[in-house]
Amino acid sequence: MQLQVSLPTNKQQTLLKVAEDYFRERVAPTAEKIDREPKALKEALKRMGDRCLLALRVPRKWGGAEFSELDYRRFQMSIARYSGALAFLQSQHQSAGWFIVNSDNKSLQQEYLSHMGKGEILVGIGFSQLRRHGEPMMKATPVTGGYLLEGEVPWIAGYGFFDDFIVGATLPDGQELYGIVPLHGSENKIHISRLMELAVIGSTNTVSAKFNSWFLGCDRVLSIKPPRSIDLYSQKNVLHHGFFALGCARAALDIIEDAYYKKELIFIKDSYNRLDRAAIECSQTMFDAICSQKYSFTEKLRLRVESISLAGRCSQAAIVASGGSAASIYHPAQRVYREALLYHVSAQTTAIMKQTLAALSF
Ligand SMILES: Cc1cc2nc3c(=O)[nH]c(=O)nc-3n(C[C@H](O)[C@H](O)[C@H](O)COP(=O)(O)OP(=O)(O)OC[C@H]3O[C@@H](n4cnc5c(N)ncnc54)[C@H](O)[C@@H]3O)c2cc1C
Repeated sequence: MQLQVSLPTNKQQTLLKVAEDYFRERVAPTAEKIDREPKALKEALKRMGDRCLLALRVPRKWGGAEFSELDYRRFQMSIARYSGALAFLQSQHQSAGWFIVNSDNKSLQQEYLSHMGKGEILVGIGFSQLRRHGEPMMKATPVTGGYLLEGEVPWIAGYGFFDDFIVGATLPDGQELYGIVPLHGSENKIHISRLMELAVIGSTNTVSAKFNSWFLGCDRVLSIKPPRSIDLYSQKNVLHHGFFALGCARAALDIIEDAYYKKELIFIKDSYNRLDRAAIECSQTMFDAICSQKYSFTEKLRLRVESISLAGRCSQAAIVASGGSAASIYHPAQRVYREALLYHVSAQTTAIMKQTLAALSF
């Protein structure tokens, strides 16, 4: 059933409310199933498409919701509160949309963008390898009419969900090339691995891919950027994945609150209050920091690490407050704890790794 979403005066606020209602009422009760079963995750993603929630950063002229930075980060925090698997998977598609919007390739924009909001076309990403240093894992060699791609993409979430993905590869002069390739493999030229057995968000069907002289035509190239652009991008956007971590912390706080109502132990409430205050403070500063120029990279890095730390502390507290039942793989505290681990490493850079370890070993 295609839902008709009426969008009156403030389209973005209405859509945010549509999203929050959907996550709270429909996603939260099945979050454990969504974490384990690709079919349940697929259904949840489809329902987001029915509500036009899959191109939030795409301009209206291409059928997107054109969310502001602030609204998009609110949305990100909200979805992570209810399901890590759904939050992570749809975020790959939203990032791909944003990437296509910022490309100069008009024909790819026309081919993809207007079909992304409702999920008629779903696109993943596979460029975390560009963050790694040393010999490039994925290389692009210029040939007549395009490029030959060779090497390995270590992480691509969404096999069986996404039609295509945006691959990142390094040119001989160090420039970064981004292009669109299929995610179903192709006659020995793109070999997709078996599904990874993951302790968290296993339902996202995460794979790696080996490229063997795959020809990427110039018409499939989204952009070519200067060497190590990914580092500047990661530095500029250091706060972004922190909003997932904060959503995860909120999910854990919900569990602690539930445990208090069940057990009526005042010290559970005390811990809840302290962690709640810290989470609110961190999120207020993070929202301030994404809208203001006054925060340095060092300050933003500190906030990102604090958001990671909150996800870790709150999810550990949720385990403790839930008691032995939290050991069950079906218990929400168990899932949220594992999701917190994911947010410790997703979109990790050398600086984030260093500061997270410093905070943990203080
Ligand atoms: C379940 C899951 C799904 C994922 N799905 C996707 C996806 O769909 N698309 C995608 O693009 N990515 C995806 N990722 C990748 C994710 O964002 C990476 O985990 C993250 O970028 C960390 O990189 P890595 O795992 O490659 O770690 P590592 O190789 O350990 O590197 C971590 C960081 O440390 C730095 N580093 C490592 N060694 C050195 C060194 N010797 N000197 C200096 N710096 C160093 C790296 O540059 C990197 O920034 C996924 C990850 C997970 C766990």
